[in-house]
Amino acid sequence: MTSPGLTITATPIGNLDDISPRAVASLTEADVIACEDTRHTGLMLSRLGLKHGRLVAYHDHTSPGAREKLLAELENGKAVTLVSDAGTPLISDPGYRLVKACRDRGIPVTTVPGPSALLAALVVSGLPTDRFYFAGFLPNTASKRKKALDHLMAIDATIICYESARRLDDTMADIALISPQRLCSIARELTKTFEESWHDTATNLADHFRLAGPPKGELVVMIAPPDAMETDVSDAAILALLNEHLSQGASRRDAVRQISTDTGVGKSRVYDLMLTLDQI
Ligand code: SAM
Repeated sequence: MTSPGLTITATPIGNLDDISPRAVASLTEADVIACEDTRHTGLMLSRLGLKHGRLVAYHDHTSPGAREKLLAELENGKAVTLVSDAGTPLISDPGYRLVKACRDRGIPVTTVPGPSALLAALVVSGLPTDRFYFAGFLPNTASKRKKALDHLMAIDATIICYESARRLDDTMADIALISPQRLCSIARELTKTFEESWHDTATNLADHFRLAGPPKGELVVMIAPPDAMETDVSDAAILALLNEHLSQGASRRDAVRQISTDTGVGKSRVYDLMLTLDQI
């Protein structure tokens, strides 16, 4: 039985069969369903054949009035369920401000967990799953996107980004410029009929999408951590690169950083090898 308070309810990211029995209970028992788009959620509810309470539109940035109304209902002991168009609310979707306001006012918040594109994409990527960083959507403008990628690609974790299909070729080209050999994975239309994925170096994927054009549908881009390919690069190869960079006048710091970026080898390993040059 759904209790009073706010419930954050995850819904399918493509395949309606992924709706959970608890999500169904939360949707059918709530006094109010707060959603991004009442028509979209109404359609999902009718496809699922569910009888439900009132639907109200809610967005964090454009609905301060709607938020106050929901908070008043919650303070009056009503059960409100928050859903987004697909997946888990608050994850690149509205809800954070509502949850924060509930926490500030002592209103109970619980969740019916379920689908989210970021975890679905990560687990099929073949990239390390022990540490990952979810970056949401990358900035729209080219210069801001490059700056963001520069920063993200130095993080020692698999990077997960939501991306629009029409920007994929530009984004992959930017990733390839920063680290040509970095392994990447792209997951498209997860759980849907035309689910598809690609796994290759940034350069190969950038070339592929430049020639093939952008794929259709929704997608997630993932980038391996800098040292995920470390074992593929020998000490001798790194030493040769160090000699080359240093003989061309690069500072030790710049040489380590550049080689780490180009090869995907962690900076600490490159640095340790550089120290061995002093002993020769
Ligand atoms: N809250 C959602 C979640 O938990 O995944 C994400 C909402 S965000 C506005 C939408 C983005 O998620 C899409 O642009 C795409 O990057 C990703 N996405 C959603 N569904 C997907 C799917 N079935 N396959 C691949 N990516 C998906």
